[in-house]
Amino acid sequence: MDPVTESLNEVHRRLSGLREGQVADYIPQLATADPDDFGLALVSMAGHAYRAGKADVPFSIQSVSKPFVYALALSDLGFEEVRRRVGVEPSGNPFNAISLEPDTGRPANPMINAGAIATTALVRADGPAERFHRILACLSAFAGRPLDVDEEVYASEAATGDRNRALAYLMHSAGSLRAGPEETVDTYFRQCSVRVTAGDLAVMAATLANGGRNPVTGVQVVAEPDVVRTLAVMATCGMYDGAGEWLLDVGLPAKSGVSGGLIAASPARFGVAVYSPPLDASGNPVRAVAALGEMSKRFGLHIMHGP
Ligand code: GLN
Repeated sequence: MDPVTESLNEVHRRLSGLREGQVADYIPQLATADPDDFGLALVSMAGHAYRAGKADVPFSIQSVSKPFVYALALSDLGFEEVRRRVGVEPSGNPFNAISLEPDTGRPANPMINAGAIATTALVRADGPAERFHRILACLSAFAGRPLDVDEEVYASEAATGDRNRALAYLMHSAGSLRAGPEETVDTYFRQCSVRVTAGDLAVMAATLANGGRNPVTGVQVVAEPDVVRTLAVMATCGMYDGAGEWLLDVGLPAKSGVSGGLIAASPARFGVAVYSPPLDASGNPVRAVAALGEMSKRFGLHIMHGP
């Protein structure tokens, strides 16, 4: 067995018994996830894929979609235009907080719900159908295969998403949302319900680590400067109110989601993804945080280390 797969297997073995955290249940369909599912995947800049555990179990992408849609908005509108609408400061608040600037209604950053909803509205399109079509095409290009929507998760999310609707209406009333609140939040629910596996997320993370070029398909999905900005925002804001601790302990740009997915990118080296549904108090998957902590220390991955 190659040494990378061996290390992934070892991390998987050691952390399978970790039983902390709670599976998210505020979206009813997420509560049906198996807390024991645990998969790891890593994709190198040469496009080689390494896996351990359940790297092929499908789940909804949730907030792990946020950096990719931010990168799409950046490539559509340019950084200055996007920054006018969505800030780049860590909020230090939970993912669903009402982190809006008092005067302008501008959300703190694109990695929390308010900022992600505003970012979804920035994607260039003639209407909501085309906007979602472009988002799905972008996520698919990052993954290197056609992705689809988990309709049950979408229905569950739409039925219980009043807090996200409230965020959209607040931004709309402050003039900081570029499209209608109902259509935007509906597109955002669909975006969160896109079905992926840890294997897919590792390719997506590797595409970020590779300057926007998918290392498996060779397709340049977004331009490198937009990827650098996306990774910078992930580094400071990707782990919600756990972002500061994460940057110290692990030191890689990352993004987590409530369904238990997490990606991390080691620039010019690899992308890695973990799937494990139980979450800690910040909403980050417990086994994924532990796995990346171990890997970062073992292989000296912290971005503040020299090469
Ligand atoms: N769809 C979820 C929500 O908006 C995404 C949140 C997350 O993954 N942290 O509540």
